[in-house]
Amino acid sequence: MKLTIYHLYPDLLDLYGDRGNVLALAARCRWRGIEVDIRRASLGDPIDFSAADIVFLGGGSDREQSILVEDLSSRGTDLRDGIEDGLVLLTICGGYQLLGQYYQTGEGKKIPGLGILDLYTVAGNKRLIGNVIIELEPELKKNVLDSYASSVEEESAQKLNTLVGFENHSGKTYLGSNLRPLGKVLRGYGNNGEDDEEGVRYKNVFGTYLHGPFLPKNPHIADLLIRLAWERRENVSTVSLLGDNMEIVAHQAIISRFGSNR
Ligand code: GLN
Repeated sequence: MKLTIYHLYPDLLDLYGDRGNVLALAARCRWRGIEVDIRRASLGDPIDFSAADIVFLGGGSDREQSILVEDLSSRGTDLRDGIEDGLVLLTICGGYQLLGQYYQTGEGKKIPGLGILDLYTVAGNKRLIGNVIIELEPELKKNVLDSYASSVEEESAQKLNTLVGFENHSGKTYLGSNLRPLGKVLRGYGNNGEDDEEGVRYKNVFGTYLHGPFLPKNPHIADLLIRLAWERRENVSTVSLLGDNMEIVAHQAIISRFGSNR
């Protein structure tokens, strides 16, 4: 029983503790008796996508995105094949932007993306910064609940109808009409501060502007990623409860503290 997590460009894409997402995934697997192999790969390092169960790309500044985009593009075909085959991917902010068609910086420079997802990003003249609260998109909420092994677990998951995190970006991302967001913005800016949408979901690919890190604050999404990876590898479609009382209290505390600005 083993899952392989690839952490791509950990030296370049690791804003606001993004690597905590990899630590959270690994801990939650190990607590369930699932062994984890974490592989870190940066510029020029070999990546075996056929061995990967979960791929993680964190956030970074425009400068770091420019440094690594050529290297990432050279892996584009393998990554795309993996995604079409159900590979689980979590991408944050700068990493999320790179999956799209392009990212246009404040200076008007276009950094080409991988073009795997039908979305594009244009830097605005104001940084979008602060705490974010999202209401989960209904299909995603259903997938979260489907992950849990028993109704007791579902009951505690019912309380987690939201995502919380922290955003800091100038890029405004616009999704093509065939893509669904992760949810609706209750507080903060989300994808672009205009359409009240945050993040993207395509197959088993998740993109979000939420740093923070994202998964320790949103354990239900960590479990969904593990379940999807586990299902693809071993055909097991649920995960067991870990007793997330502290995590749920922490998540709810952020909601009571920051509420809604809508
Ligand atoms: N450079 C991008 C932006 O400012 C991404 C920033 C980030 O990853 N936090 O939009």
